[in-house]
Amino acid sequence: MSQETSRPAIEGWFATEPEPHLIGGRCTTCGTVVFPDNRLACPNPACAGHEFEPTPLGRRGRVWSFATNHYPPPEPYITPDPFVPYTVVAAELLAEKLVVLGQLADGSDPSELAVGGEVELTVGALYQQEDGTVRTVWKWAPVGRGASGEADAAEVGA
Ligand SMILES: [Zn+2]
Repeated sequence: MSQETSRPAIEGWFATEPEPHLIGGRCTTCGTVVFPDNRLACPNPACAGHEFEPTPLGRRGRVWSFATNHYPPPEPYITPDPFVPYTVVAAELLAEKLVVLGQLADGSDPSELAVGGEVELTVGALYQQEDGTVRTVWKWAPVGRGASGEADAAEVGA
């Protein structure tokens, strides 16, 4: 029906082409990768670098921890009314070894998650503005049970 526009909730932290991925920063002095890419100084204690160039990060990670929130977060977070519990996943990127927090992907069930399990970065809706614009954010989807961790993953027996 109506044409929805979608925009990142935060500009410059992720991209959807060619596939959803985060955009980190690589220290131009020592190569250390950070996320998000707005650090003032290199976190490497042996490096005095303070310039970073945008770099795409790997899409796969391992679950480091996860939790389901059963209460609305405080402002400035925007939550649907009535509130729907949501799951937050801390995933360690396989390539960069950075731990990145993100919501569990739409259509995934928290019971699919296990510490050490593999997840893949996707992009989904965070909230919808009153003008219909959908604000998007990266999310973590469990993988290894189906082609892309989508939909029918729940009925796989082990
Ligand atoms: Zn550095």
